[in-house]
Amino acid sequence: MAPESSRDKTETSTVQTRSTPDRKKVSGWSWLIRIIAVCVLFRWLNNRFDYMPMVYGLNYLLPKACVYLIALFSLVALLLSRSAWIRWPALVWVLLTCGVQIGFYRSTGRGFSLEEAIGFLGATDAIGDCLRLYWKLALPALVALIVIGAGVIWALRRYLVEVGPWWSLTSLPALAGALALAWQTQGFASPFTTPYRVTALLSYVMATRYAGPREQPLLPAPPLESERVPHLILIIDESVLGCELSINGYPRPTTPFLEKHPGAFWNGGIASSGAIKTEPSNRMIYSGLRFDQLPDAADRMGKNPSLCSYAIQAGYACECLFAQSFRSLVAQDLHAFPPAKLAYTENLNPVEYQREFELISPLQAFLQAHETSFTYINKRGAHFPYAMHCPEDRRVFGKGTGADCSWSFDLLANVNDYDNCLRYVVDEYLSRLSVALEASGKDVLVLYTSDHGQTLPGSLGTNAIRATHGYATLPPITANVPLMAFGFGPKGRAFIGKLAQNDTLFNNCTHFQIFPTLLRAMGYPPEQVQKLYSPSLLDRLPRPQPRTYVGDLGGGKHCKFREFPPEQNGIATNLYDEVMHWKAPPAH
Ligand SMILES: [Zn+2]
Repeated sequence: MAPESSRDKTETSTVQTRSTPDRKKVSGWSWLIRIIAVCVLFRWLNNRFDYMPMVYGLNYLLPKACVYLIALFSLVALLLSRSAWIRWPALVWVLLTCGVQIGFYRSTGRGFSLEEAIGFLGATDAIGDCLRLYWKLALPALVALIVIGAGVIWALRRYLVEVGPWWSLTSLPALAGALALAWQTQGFASPFTTPYRVTALLSYVMATRYAGPREQPLLPAPPLESERVPHLILIIDESVLGCELSINGYPRPTTPFLEKHPGAFWNGGIASSGAIKTEPSNRMIYSGLRFDQLPDAADRMGKNPSLCSYAIQAGYACECLFAQSFRSLVAQDLHAFPPAKLAYTENLNPVEYQREFELISPLQAFLQAHETSFTYINKRGAHFPYAMHCPEDRRVFGKGTGADCSWSFDLLANVNDYDNCLRYVVDEYLSRLSVALEASGKDVLVLYTSDHGQTLPGSLGTNAIRATHGYATLPPITANVPLMAFGFGPKGRAFIGKLAQNDTLFNNCTHFQIFPTLLRAMGYPPEQVQKLYSPSLLDRLPRPQPRTYVGDLGGGKHCKFREFPPEQNGIATNLYDEVMHWKAPPAH
């Protein structure tokens, strides 16, 4: 006991010494210097390694924290103001912005961030449709907000505190800070209380990203007698690695159905994606952007005539089936034509792996209801965490990372999870879809790819940033995607027959081939499509075709390009060899 109590005494005396006024001053300064040093270090790291993961660097965190506190205080000052001239307009502003936030959250399960702001401004024509679809989801939360909000404000003012009108001026620096950070981080950092966040993001997108209405199709409508496939389906899967499918040489049977039916589809082998993040990849495909139009400083992705506008002009009924809830991916394109012409179906089943499977029957119904149709399908696919996207009873490969789905550097467990997931979301999905489309008796062409590839957690490159895609520092496997086509009915089969005859395609394609191929399948004339867009799958490609992708978050002014090296085509045979120790050579 004795030594302990003597140590206690020593500690107490140290504390006392530290609390003398002189020491306090010195330690305050030294803390300031330390904070500045850390900020400088983070600023340097942030510039050096693209965006720092998750936090975007402390240089954003500090101003964010300050603005957040001022914003919170100023909201209280506005809503509890003694002056009704300040209180009531502030209440309307808060209700409108919170209403937008709650409406989005209740209908999509996501907060209001940059993508939602882009979608919101781009789809103003579709607001009526959105309200009709989602008002029941949003209404209870909105009513609760109004009743509780008004009640709390009344009670606080009545019994606790009223704030002098001058304090409401604190909202000006809060708003200025929110706007400055939105601009500084290109809309990524927006952590403020909802009214400021929604206002800052909408202002930022309106001023910088909103390109106005899309252009009308650049080609005249194809003649009705042109050679065309009546039903077209484009499937953009999520995070599916082309080289990890056994049809592309991967040693584990991740695609048993496809392997058993090699004649039922055309396999383009390994393709490179346009970008390594969902949104830019989808936007590039949807807008027919050519590679030589990157960096996309003029936002051609938002302005070009879209796949749907070409399809509608050619007489195809259009439908978007979404399993992602990333409505902003195409929502901003809704204004390209009256929304009534576009059927939009989103499945937000909380059991994520059920979403895309449940969208097969709406697809069947859509095909039956129309003579000609174009369907854009966005799958939930194999996004990290992988275990969430595969039901228990479909897990056939080894032990995974566990049920909590948190980040794990155990590469072997991640490979197991991911392989199980691919077998389910790719192979079983395509098998069920094929059965459904065959049974429809229609002429159908399906183009299938993924938005980007995947760097599995525990692979080289994921240690520092804990991300599976979306960062320029990740290896080119992040852009390694499958490309396949399925044909049903005589016209669908004839189309994939033509692809099979083109010997320049295998392991040589990119996302940029998709848009012109679909235009050709709609009957647009080859010469005109060729003139405006990249080569289609019906054209002969240079072999090898140089392949490059956008390696960071967007395709905008400062995008970074990365080579997609030819070694990616043969990577399947030795992928994960260090943990899988493949024994038998692959069967291909
Ligand atoms: Zn994605």
